[in-house]
Amino acid sequence: MIGVNLQEPGFFEHGALVAVLTAQPLDRFLDYKAPEGGCAEGAFVEVPLGPRKVLGVIWGPGKGDYNISKIRSVNRVLDVAPMDQGMKAFLERAADYTLTPLHAMLRLATRAPGLSDPPSMRKIYRLGEGEPDRQTEARRRVLEALRDYGGLSFTLGELSEMAGVTNSVIKGLVKQGVVREEDTPRDVPFARLDPEYGGKTLSEDQAAGAEALRAGVRSERYGTTLLRGVTGSGKTEVYLEAVAECLKVGRQGLVLLPEIALTSEFLTRVEARFGARPAEWHSGVTMTERRRTWKMVGQGGASLVVGARSALFLPFRDLGLIVVDEEHDTSYKQEDGVLYNARDMAVLRASLSGAQVVLASATPSLESWANAQAGKYERLELMSRFGDAVLPEMRAIDMRAEDLARDRWISSTLKAAVDRRVLAGEQSLLFINRRGYAPVTICRACGHQVGCDHCDARMVEHRFLKRLVCHQCGETKAMPEVCPSCEVEGKLAPVGPGVERLAEEAGKLWPEARLAVLSSDLFGSARALKEGIETIAAGGADIIIGTQLVAKGHNFPLLTLVGVIDADLGLQGSDLRAAERTFQLMRQVAGRAGRAEKPGVAMLQSYQPEHPVIRAILAGDEKGFWSAEADERRHAGVPPYGRMAGIILSGGDVSQVFDLGNALARNAGMLRAIGAEVYGPAPAPIARVRGRHRVRLLVKADKSAPLQAALAQWVGQFRLKGDLRLAVDIDPQSF
Ligand code: ADP
Ligand code: ZN
Repeated sequence: MIGVNLQEPGFFEHGALVAVLTAQPLDRFLDYKAPEGGCAEGAFVEVPLGPRKVLGVIWGPGKGDYNISKIRSVNRVLDVAPMDQGMKAFLERAADYTLTPLHAMLRLATRAPGLSDPPSMRKIYRLGEGEPDRQTEARRRVLEALRDYGGLSFTLGELSEMAGVTNSVIKGLVKQGVVREEDTPRDVPFARLDPEYGGKTLSEDQAAGAEALRAGVRSERYGTTLLRGVTGSGKTEVYLEAVAECLKVGRQGLVLLPEIALTSEFLTRVEARFGARPAEWHSGVTMTERRRTWKMVGQGGASLVVGARSALFLPFRDLGLIVVDEEHDTSYKQEDGVLYNARDMAVLRASLSGAQVVLASATPSLESWANAQAGKYERLELMSRFGDAVLPEMRAIDMRAEDLARDRWISSTLKAAVDRRVLAGEQSLLFINRRGYAPVTICRACGHQVGCDHCDARMVEHRFLKRLVCHQCGETKAMPEVCPSCEVEGKLAPVGPGVERLAEEAGKLWPEARLAVLSSDLFGSARALKEGIETIAAGGADIIIGTQLVAKGHNFPLLTLVGVIDADLGLQGSDLRAAERTFQLMRQVAGRAGRAEKPGVAMLQSYQPEHPVIRAILAGDEKGFWSAEADERRHAGVPPYGRMAGIILSGGDVSQVFDLGNALARNAGMLRAIGAEVYGPAPAPIARVRGRHRVRLLVKADKSAPLQAALAQWVGQFRLKGDLRLAVDIDPQSF
């Protein structure tokens, strides 16, 4: 092989042909010549593409199957760490698994702006020499602030805030040399985390679990552990010990959280444990900070990253541990663009990097439960709550016996229970899994329901925003004065409860109590939400009215009662995962009660308390519930016992979309050849979004069937014309 130095595998000398992967939508590698000085396999480079310069990665030797004199050279190798073999293999395998082109995977992996820019600098200020020509109060404060922190340097913003002066005061001191202004690179390593700092004394259960996880991390081999334990049992403390071990052996750690709103609380906890803050990665992080994190992860200047699912695609140099907290959470499934489940991708990534995975949950997904049963995952259980806190007692309120007035949702039984908490100075939570004021707006004259113009969805009234909102596409409009259908005035009325309407009812029932409404759309920012949560945790509310947001991992020590307004809500519909989701959600919500020294009660309002799922929730019979669910899924041949894929077709013209669906269904020989069954085409669960019609085919196959290869062949038969789009969804969330 010309130009490949065999002494150093994967290094290409000047002029050698290299295959470059770019994030451009091209279905092949591009050949270039290695630049002066050569380049390593995995190096990030800038290459010319037509008139443009684009980012790419050296993927391997070039093929050179066309006129070599026409091949251009790589412009330059970027000043960032090359991608390692584990990461390359991960992108390839993830692309194969999700049937996504490799360039789209690379795009996920390079979501940091300005990677090809030269290192950017910023100005910092430190103590200089001498005294100012004229001493003023403001100048004195600046110098005092700098002397207090002897030797440290600050940005202009930090220093002016610390000293309580304007920027011009500092600039004036710079001119005289009393304060020094220096340029430093922006992309600096993160503070070192100290594994010995702030550890807690663990309970016997916790200590045993922590030791098992530590041993896994020390092995520097792949392994997955399902860490199960009721909310408050101390799982976080246990997996932080695995993080500590990972820091000790000098490898990198990644903790994935399902919800950005949870990160700030978690970062504070990490800081208390390790003495410094880790790197953060999610949509709320500034672009500059993102770039810093991306670069430092590659260079080893970040030892721990806390983030959302996309953090899996960061170019870790030596990944030793991935924690997926609340692993059952449906938000780990990316439903836009590249469709992947971060939990499954974490396992894939770890297996290619010799890393450990910890899946933590109070209510694991059936998938993980089945993998643990089958011996593919290790299992750790924390049976009791940490300290003296006990699990809440679970009770049903039979709504058929309650005789509620119209447009009332809080039963007299639940009201009495809340009354007692208010008197005792304890907190109650009323839970309803519906945002907005009312899920339906109906015309009392003609029965018309107000829908979205672009989606097959109802508009939801939000009184707080004073708008109707489509929860599908986000479109909003003002509440119409007349019915859009019969044009009669003043007859549009809300039907059913949303969290805002429930708050209105609570306000009438408990006019003296302090109410707090927790719903994602009522907070303008992550910070506002965090402050809201902190206020509540500190006792700043008597009654909390909340949506799904409260189910996710917040600590409210004074909370002793949870009332679920509509426990039946998730059980409607034909989705095979409905039972699992309801079971998980109800247990998560109930787990909010009684975390401190006071025991809690959870009350479930239900019109069908004899339903098997509701009965399993009340009995706390997790194992019984899972085995029954597992039997049903096994019987139906669906995940985790069979494999499924959804094919979503969409386009502006409904008959064209169906034509394509029918053509696919008729030409599915390669799927039948591997024993797979094809269902559909049928309207997708949401049949119209943003004006596009959606049609779905479902493919079901045996666990062992080579599904991806057959699918690729199947959908590859058709060229999509016009605005038609096709997306493959492996392991769909609903089926
Ligand atoms: P989980 O992650 O299972 O919900 P956490 O780890 O958050 O549980 O623990 C619940 C509460 O108990 C937290 O406030 C935590 O700080 C506290 N806690 C858990 N383990 C210990 C321990 N060994 N020592 C002191 N406090 C602990
Ligand atoms: Zn819409």
